[in-house]
This record gives sequence, C-alpha cells and structure tokens, in this order.
Amino acid sequence: MKEKLFGKTLNELQVLVAELELPKFTARQIADWLYKKDVSSIDEMTNLSKNVRELLTEKFEFGLIASTKVQESSDGTKKYLFPTIQNKFIETAMIPERDRKTVCVSSQVGCKMGCLFCFTAKQGFQGQLTAGEIVNQIRSISEAGEVSNIVYMGMGEPFDNLDEVLKSIEILTSEWGFGMSPRRITVSTIGIIPGMLSFLENCEAHLAVSLHTPFNEERRKLMPVEVAYPIEDVVAEIKKWDFGRQRRVSFEYIVFEGLNDSEGHVKELAKILSGLKCRINLIRFHPVPGTPLKSPDDKTIQHFKDELNKKGILTTIRASRGQDIYAACGLLSTKELNN
Ligand code: SF4
Repeated sequence: MKEKLFGKTLNELQVLVAELELPKFTARQIADWLYKKDVSSIDEMTNLSKNVRELLTEKFEFGLIASTKVQESSDGTKKYLFPTIQNKFIETAMIPERDRKTVCVSSQVGCKMGCLFCFTAKQGFQGQLTAGEIVNQIRSISEAGEVSNIVYMGMGEPFDNLDEVLKSIEILTSEWGFGMSPRRITVSTIGIIPGMLSFLENCEAHLAVSLHTPFNEERRKLMPVEVAYPIEDVVAEIKKWDFGRQRRVSFEYIVFEGLNDSEGHVKELAKILSGLKCRINLIRFHPVPGTPLKSPDDKTIQHFKDELNKKGILTTIRASRGQDIYAACGLLSTKELNN
C-alpha cells in the first residue's frame, strides 16, 4: 500500500520533497492541494510538472478516505462511518445549529478507558488513528468547507493518542493547512494529566474535561481513570493555566438518575471548581444497552442546573441531538462490526 500524503505536516512534506530532490517550495504547493483545494488525486496538482506528479505517484497516494455509510437524523444531525484498520470503523457526527456546523471527530478506534456509561468502551481498544484519519473526518464529509467548529468528543480518548491529535490540530490551524482558529476547536478528555499538560503547552484549542461527579469513590465506579488521575488533581493542574481570556475550559457532566444530581454534588462541585473561570455542560444520558444507568427527567436536570448557577457556576444543558440515529458514540460502528 502506498503512503498517504494527506495528514502530513509542512515539515514532513519538506523532508519528503528533499528526499525526492525536488525544490523546497514544492512542499508548500503540495500542502496547498492537500488542505486548501477541493481535489483528491495527485494528478490534479496541476502546478506541479507531469514528471513531479509521476515521481510522487510512484510512492504516494493523495490519501482521502470516503465514508461507507451516512445516517441523517430528523433534526439534521448526520453520522458518518469511515473505514479504518483491520475492517473496523470509526464514527464522525456533523451537528448543524443555526449558523454553525460542528463536527465531532473520533481520535481512536474503540477505547481502552472503560467508562461505565460509554458504548465505545464496550468495543475495547482496537488501535490509534493517524492525524490524516482524524483530519479526513472533516475533509471527507459532504459539509467539508462549511465546518465552523470541531470537537474531539467522538470515539477514543484524545490524550491517549496525543501526538497524532496534536498533529491533526497543527494541520487544521496552520496557515499552510486549513487555517482555522484554534478557538473553534475543543478537545475533550477524561483527565489524563500528562497528555492534558502537553496539550495545554503546545496548542491553543479549548479544553473540555469529563467530570460526571466530584466524588472520588463514585467517579472511580464510573470512570476507572479516576484511580490514576483523581479529579481534584486534574482540576488543580487546570487552575495553574489562564482560562480567563480567549481560551476556555468546560466540564462535561452527564446526569444520571439518583446518582450524581443531589444537593451534595452541587456543593462539592462549587467547592472543587471555586476560583476557576469555567462552564459546566450538563448532558442528558442516552441509555446504552447493558448499563444500569438512567437519565433523570427534564425537571430534575433543570433544577440541578439552577442550583449550580446559584452557586456562581455558569451551567448549561446541552441539547440532545440525533437521538433517532444511534447518536451515542460507538453504537453505529458496533452495529456495523456485528453485521
Ligand atoms: S467516554 Fe471517552 S474515554 Fe471513556 S470509554 Fe468512552 S470514548 Fe473512552
């Protein structure tokens, strides 16, 4: 199989053209075709001579990957399925909202983190995605070119695939790449501290942390990562960074009936987040097969939100989208695997 050009950074392209003894500026020309133009083959890179195109084609392919399935919800949310290694699949969601089109990308094939409430966890870990496969989820959907926001909240834990995730953000935000503002990108983690610190150091995108409960015992049951990286340590690290200006930190909080929506949770959340400029996004739980967890009714979620707001924590309830198309991440690809 030929090596893919799509997914290479400008530096990597420069090394590649040097090896082929081509002029240095060829690297920028190739980056332009890969990330700024609507073409999909080396042969369409028409400002490169025929000889150069042939030379490239001997070793490389352009490298886009087409989706094999698309499902559209009645609310306009779409879910794309892309093939990856060993006949496995990854999922990408496109969520349209008024003047925005947000794409939710996967960063791994399956996941090893074992969160109790997550369907992707049930697939186990199958492999890492390359930067090219991550960026392809934005480039190879029908809405490519209209994407306004990107969230790394699909399958996988981004900081368990840190290098490829950072490389994908470099391609998305560099002037030689997609030229997007890092303020339009949010990376969501369950709190892998070393990866999170490296991310905060090396890029400007927003951070979202899956919190789900402020109590260690409870969080350990929901998210095994709590054993290695307790939530108070995660928050203590975050408090060392400046989130007061353009960069934002938010906390994702799936509300589970009778489990993490009490007055005690409100108080403890206010305590651990005090002094941090942040937001909590409350998420309704979409029951996944095989878990005992349930979603509370809307009134309970609204009350929980009001109580957090009263404590001075900016809290919103995320709208449920795409419920009719296996919206919970991991459901569609699992179904495909089992076909
Ligand atoms: S919630 Fe995220 S980190 Fe946890 S198992 Fe699912 S994909 Fe992995």
